[in-house]
Parts: sequence; C-alpha cells; structure tokens
Amino acid sequence: MATLAELALSPRSPAHRRADRASARLRLPHPSDLDLLVDLGDSIGARRWWQGVSILVLLCSLTVSLGLSPPRLVGSGGEPLTDWVLEARRPARIGALADGSRHGILVPPGPAAVRLSEIPERPRIELTASVGAGGSLEAALRRAGVGRDDLNAILRLAREAGAPKPIAAGTRLELVLGRRETRSVPRPVESLAFRAAFDLRLAFSAGPNGLVVQRIPIRVDETPLRVTGEVGRSLPGALRAAGVPGPVIADYLRQLGQVVDIQRGVRSRDRFDLIVGHRQAETGEREWGRLLYAGLVDGSRSVALFRFGPRGEFYRENGESAKRGLIRTPVEGARRSSGFGMRFHPILGYSRMHQGIDFAAPSGTPVLASAAGKVVMAGWSGGYGNVIALQHGRNMVTRYAHLSRISVKVGDTVAQGQRIGAVGSTGLSTGPHLHYEVWVDGKPVNPAEARYLSGSQLEGEALRQFQAELARVRRIARTQS
Ligand SMILES: [Zn+2]
Repeated sequence: MATLAELALSPRSPAHRRADRASARLRLPHPSDLDLLVDLGDSIGARRWWQGVSILVLLCSLTVSLGLSPPRLVGSGGEPLTDWVLEARRPARIGALADGSRHGILVPPGPAAVRLSEIPERPRIELTASVGAGGSLEAALRRAGVGRDDLNAILRLAREAGAPKPIAAGTRLELVLGRRETRSVPRPVESLAFRAAFDLRLAFSAGPNGLVVQRIPIRVDETPLRVTGEVGRSLPGALRAAGVPGPVIADYLRQLGQVVDIQRGVRSRDRFDLIVGHRQAETGEREWGRLLYAGLVDGSRSVALFRFGPRGEFYRENGESAKRGLIRTPVEGARRSSGFGMRFHPILGYSRMHQGIDFAAPSGTPVLASAAGKVVMAGWSGGYGNVIALQHGRNMVTRYAHLSRISVKVGDTVAQGQRIGAVGSTGLSTGPHLHYEVWVDGKPVNPAEARYLSGSQLEGEALRQFQAELARVRRIARTQS
C-alpha cells in the first residue's frame, strides 16, 4: 500500500492529472518542472539552470527596487562629538603616524579650565641642605631660603643649646619651610633638625611664640680601640690594611721612630700594637681619636709608649720621655770610621783617649745639629780646626770638629737636624771626616750611648697619674685582646 506522500506526489494521482490538464491548457511549465531551488553549479547551460539564473536576477532586482538596506549597527546614539572632545581623545586613539596620530600628548585643558595669572605656591617645602666645606650653618640656611629673623633665632638657640661652632662641614640640615603671606617675604621655618655634634642632635620647631629648640643627646660609646697584628711586608701597609686612619698611622710611626729604627729595626714577624681613641654613636657612626698607646712586640723585646700629659707627649712605661734623643749620625750618609775610647793617635803617634766618634764623609757634606740647642762656639780651635759647639739644656754640649765651613755664629739657636756646617779636614786631621763629641756634666761620653733626656722624666704626682693612666689603658688592651 502506498504512503500518503507517495499518493500526493505520484504522477498518477488525481492531483497530477488535474495539473496536467491545466498546464496543457495554459501552456505553462509543468509544476514539477518549475524548481525554485536550483543548484547553479549543476548542469550549467541547461534549461533548468537558466531558470535558476532568471529567478535569482528577478529576486535581486525586486530587492533593489523595493529600496531595502541592511540595518545600521550603531553602538550608542550619544551626542555628536565636539571638536575639543575629539582633540582630547586623539592621544588615546591608535592610528598610523601617517594619519596624524599623536600618541601620548597631554590632554589639552577642557572648557572648564581657568587660566591663572601666576603659578600657585606649594604650601610647604621639605628640603635637605648641607653645610658646605669651609661654609657655615648660617650660610647654608640662608642659601636654603631662611629669612633673617628665623636665622638669627636659630643661631641664638643653637648657641644656647651648646652646639659647637662651627658646625662640621657636610652636616645635613632637614628643613621644612611653611606657607607665606606674599612672595616678597621669605618662608617661615616650620622645623629644622640637624646633628650639631657627634653626641648631640638639635630639633627646632615653630611654636606659638616663635622657634623653640629641643636637645636630643646621642649616646656614644667612648671605649678606645685596640688594633694589633703582624707587620708583614710593610708596617704602614699593615696598619692601613687594619683600617687605621692615615693621621694615626703617621703619629704611630713618628712616636715609634723615636725609639726604634723603623727602616731597619722592624721585622716582618713583629707585631704592632696600638690603642686609639674611638667613639661610636648609637646611630652607628664612628670617629677615630688620637693615638693613646704605641707598641711593637716580638719574641725578645717590646717597645711600649703611652701618651700622657697636656702636651700629649709619649712616655715609656717607667715615665721616661720617648722624645727623640740625639741624632746618632750628624752627617748625611756618613760611615763611622773611628769609635769612642782609647786608641793610637795617627798624627800624635801615641795612644790616648778618643773623646768622640769620627764619621768619614767627603769634604763639603752637610753637618747637622744632633739636637736643638744654642751655638756656644763657632770658630778655630787648635787641633779641632774649625769647630762648632752646641749647648743643649743645662748639662749637655755637642761638638763638631775639622769642619770645612761654619754656617752658624755664637748665640744662634738651632733646631735638631739643622745644617750648621760642612765636613772638612781642618786642624789635626788625616782626611775629610767629622769628629763628633758629646759632653754631659763636663765629661765626654760615648755618643753612641748618650741619651738626651732634658726634663723628660716624670716624677712625683705626675708619675703617679701616668701610672694610673697606664693601668687604665692596659685594662682596655686586655679586654680587647
Ligand atoms: Zn776624632
């Protein structure tokens, strides 16, 4: 049995038969031939294909003739953009440079912007200034814009608070300047703070009755610092490597040089030992002071010098001054040719006491004063030839004989190491040399052993104080060893 669809579409159905009759009468294409859905890719050029093309053209021209257009896709129906809005949005637009794109340009002022006649001032200014090298607190504040009245008040308050004068160069000033009435007057100081001294900070602030100052003490540890180590290749180099500052190194070498030959008498295995004044603030800063103790130690000997007294002189442990004695060789670059004591005299032809030391040196070599003193003789004296005698303190005289030249006269004051004449061969002499004598209390002494200690031995109360100070420094040394 046929389905309903087959019945409806079967060419032999009654409906078909009626259509067959109608089409025969009207000579129209049979409905089964009139196919609206034609595949134009199929059987091109066939009659059925042409039908499809005609239908397509017909429908397109129908659409155009009715004036239909696709709906507009509009995001918002807002107001039209004004010129300045367009201009303002230009920087945000992404576009080609060739199209005049100007990315990143500041948005121009809108219509609400009002042009001011002058730039408004900031209500307050926070700034840091610093005291310049060779400058002063006053100059730094004036440069920062502090007015005369505030300046005078600050300087007066700082003085009253016990700030040192001058304030150290490099001190940072934390300054806040407040609002002012007009541009013609300086801004008032709202607050100012700086470190007036290693152990003191000052904070100024504006109160109802003008500026007031607050002292803020900074705690400082004043324990001296002990520095010790091996000499190694170079004593100054080892001290630098240990972090000792240059002026302290120079002082140490100078003091030690009074009792040790730094050039030749220090060995690489020796140990240096220093105690130096040192301050450390609770805020972390350190400050080196001056040398308090200069020591040099090795297995067999030790040198220990302590600073003491108002003049800051160095003394040995027994209270004897470390002050440099006589220059051992009062001729530059000379060689000792004859020592002190009994010897056969080459000219006189018999043994007698040689009262000094001979230094062989070419004629004209400068002769130096072996210590500071006063010229008591300068001229010819028999077998001595040209001779100079210097008085040192009350009881010591040095004598320089056989000179070729004398550069001083009686009554002159000479410094240690000063050139007083030149080596020669005048008087009883076999060749150019310096004959050098040291007399103590009217008797000749061996210059190689003489020490010049005029008034330099601590005694009585001074010695007791020195020993107390020595014990204190020793305690420090022990705690840091
Ligand atoms: Zn001699």
